[in-house]
Amino acid sequence: MVIHMIRASERAMGIEYAIRDVVLPARELEKKGIKVIRLNIGDPGKYDFQPPKHMRDAYCKAIQDGHNYYGPSEGLPELREAIVERERKKNGVEVTPEDVRVTAAVTEALQFIFGALLNPGDNILVPSPSYPPYTGLVKFYGGIANEYLTVEENGWQPDIDDMRKKINERTRAIAVINPNNPTGALYEKKTIRAILDLAGEYDLPVISDEIYDLMTYEGKHVSPGSLTKDVPVIVMNGLSKVYFATGWRLGYFYYVDPENRLAEVREAIDKMARIRLCPNTPAQFAAIAGLTGPMDYLEEYMAKLKGRRDYIYKRLSEIPGISTTKPQGAFYIFPKIEERSKWKSDKDFVLDALHEAHVLFVHGSGFGYAGEWHFRIVFLPPVEILEEAMDNFEAFMRKRLAE
Ligand code: PLP
Repeated sequence: MVIHMIRASERAMGIEYAIRDVVLPARELEKKGIKVIRLNIGDPGKYDFQPPKHMRDAYCKAIQDGHNYYGPSEGLPELREAIVERERKKNGVEVTPEDVRVTAAVTEALQFIFGALLNPGDNILVPSPSYPPYTGLVKFYGGIANEYLTVEENGWQPDIDDMRKKINERTRAIAVINPNNPTGALYEKKTIRAILDLAGEYDLPVISDEIYDLMTYEGKHVSPGSLTKDVPVIVMNGLSKVYFATGWRLGYFYYVDPENRLAEVREAIDKMARIRLCPNTPAQFAAIAGLTGPMDYLEEYMAKLKGRRDYIYKRLSEIPGISTTKPQGAFYIFPKIEERSKWKSDKDFVLDALHEAHVLFVHGSGFGYAGEWHFRIVFLPPVEILEEAMDNFEAFMRKRLAE
């Protein structure tokens, strides 16, 4: 009897996610009993970071108090009020709860926004290098991820001239990730202004990913939402990073759109929001507690993270064959492989480091073409773990360079 395979869609089979892809060879090593130091996934909850107690309590209480029902598709009114207030304080934006939508984290916000903007063949300007779901989801929704350069020599700031060159008649929006994953760049105010000017010139909305907004080491985050006059800006944020609640899957976005030019897009997004019913109800109570509650935990966590950032930067700066730009935000560092004769590609390099030094990084090309010959390290673990990883990695590099 002939067995016919059930085929999957090309759309789904085409998905790539470098950050999790490198886990498979790491697992193989672990199966053999080898300890791998995983520095590949940006999840603070895997280390000594937890959402603050007042948020955890509010989540449990919401469940115990019976808030286990479907809520409104756009999110609970009390949370949307809290978001308005948080964003007024942080960004000085004057939006109303009507402008706010609550989502299953930024990832769902991206699905809504790309789903509502893209027809087949349209494109979204995304940074290169960039967090991979941007390219993956744009493609999933039939679009083309149109990558603009960010420049390492300029602290990984976006190249506005390159952005301009990449805009064409099928471009639907400009995405900005600031502070950036994977580079840790924090964009200057003048860069944000230049992006808004360009968007205004070509009648494009700006999509602003601000998930790391309060996670900065030097300087402060500037939102395009706070500077726009007429360019529509969609700002996305959530509980995953600044509130350390990655697994709760809760986020939001809001429209800063003084001329209401996104009216049809809003309607399309609301349709998408309704067919997925609603975001997690009890987690929204935790979000209210987080957004309106004290932030002193963040100061403590950022001091810890800064120590880890400084440590890894120092260690990497002493290792031959690579060079490193100091990240100003988030918890990633993105060194460049200067000595290339020993490896076929950055992925080859990462796999070699995995097999030889038992440390897991992510290859830079997994973040777009400008990430080639780089690799990303997550510096969330405590210094003792980073130290062991850097000792192993340094020995590996010295050995390879001597061969
Ligand atoms: N945006 C950026 C730039 C990220 O780095 C990440 C996670 O690493 C996300 C979004 C995912 O956010 P969420 O957990 O809110 O879906």
